Amino acid sequence: MLYGNQNVRSALSHMAKSRRLAQTFLFYGDNGLGKKTLAQWLAMRLLCTEPDAPCGQCKNCRTIQKNTHPDVIWAEHSGKLGGFSVETVRRICAEAVIAPNSGERKVYIFADCDRMDIRSQNILLKIIEEPPAFAYFIFTASARQSLLPTILSRLVPFGLAPCSEAETLQALTEHGFAQEDAQEAIQCFHGNIGQCIGYLEEEGVRRLVSLTKDAVRCIINKNEYDLLKTFFQVGSDRNQTLRLLQLLDQVFRDAMVLRMSASLPCISCDPDGAGLLSGKLSGAGGQHDHKCIGKALAAVQANVNVQLILSALCAELIAGK
Ligand SMILES: [Zn+2]
Repeated sequence: MLYGNQNVRSALSHMAKSRRLAQTFLFYGDNGLGKKTLAQWLAMRLLCTEPDAPCGQCKNCRTIQKNTHPDVIWAEHSGKLGGFSVETVRRICAEAVIAPNSGERKVYIFADCDRMDIRSQNILLKIIEEPPAFAYFIFTASARQSLLPTILSRLVPFGLAPCSEAETLQALTEHGFAQEDAQEAIQCFHGNIGQCIGYLEEEGVRRLVSLTKDAVRCIINKNEYDLLKTFFQVGSDRNQTLRLLQLLDQVFRDAMVLRMSASLPCISCDPDGAGLLSGKLSGAGGQHDHKCIGKALAAVQANVNVQLILSALCAELIAGK
């Protein structure tokens, strides 16, 4: 089920109706905003056999929802950095010129294209430039810059926005979550339905939110030792560390925004902490801390020892106050 982003869906529907639909798309935005759900929706919109497409009921719609439609192909993600191997992309390019199995169209979806292998992107370029008349290609990534400019210039980009909190509440309760729990998740992840669901279903996400809140209090109280202890609770797990630093960075972002106006919306998981932090931060201090966290994030991604990165960051965040 797709919620929000009505404008994107209307634009795509309008293009499809006017027969001016492009064949290559990029859906971009934060994790949890529904990029893959939108890709599936567009595949249904393209292959649905009913006049009110996507009907959600016809054979095509139902099999696409079950990921069993032979002409809607999710490119196999390697699970590693680079995402799609040269072999996978070569195979898809060869298959893409073969006519669809059942209908008139086929759809290829490349989900999570962040840091996609450059060689794979270059192989894709040719088919993206001149796709067969029946083939459609949908890419999803967290940011537009994830793909090479040569690829990007051939895709029609659509940025996804968070839903309203009312839409999110509706989505979560329709998913079967209790109203009270849903509201707690929305306080942390606002209009990002995917991340709200992660919070409600995964103990690990709730723990990271709690660690983020603890870290913010340590920074406010200039308690370097406790900050280090808080950071070290993620151990040396690189992904957990990345997530924790991203959550922390968002609190700093909110604190800076709140310095300008208390009525602007927060995006972080700790609006209360951001409010407290905003009273302690100078503009330059906030910039400094944001830069330090950015540097640490880059180092975590570059395989530098996680504990060393966190120790250095702790000292910088406390000294910056
Ligand atoms: Zn249908």
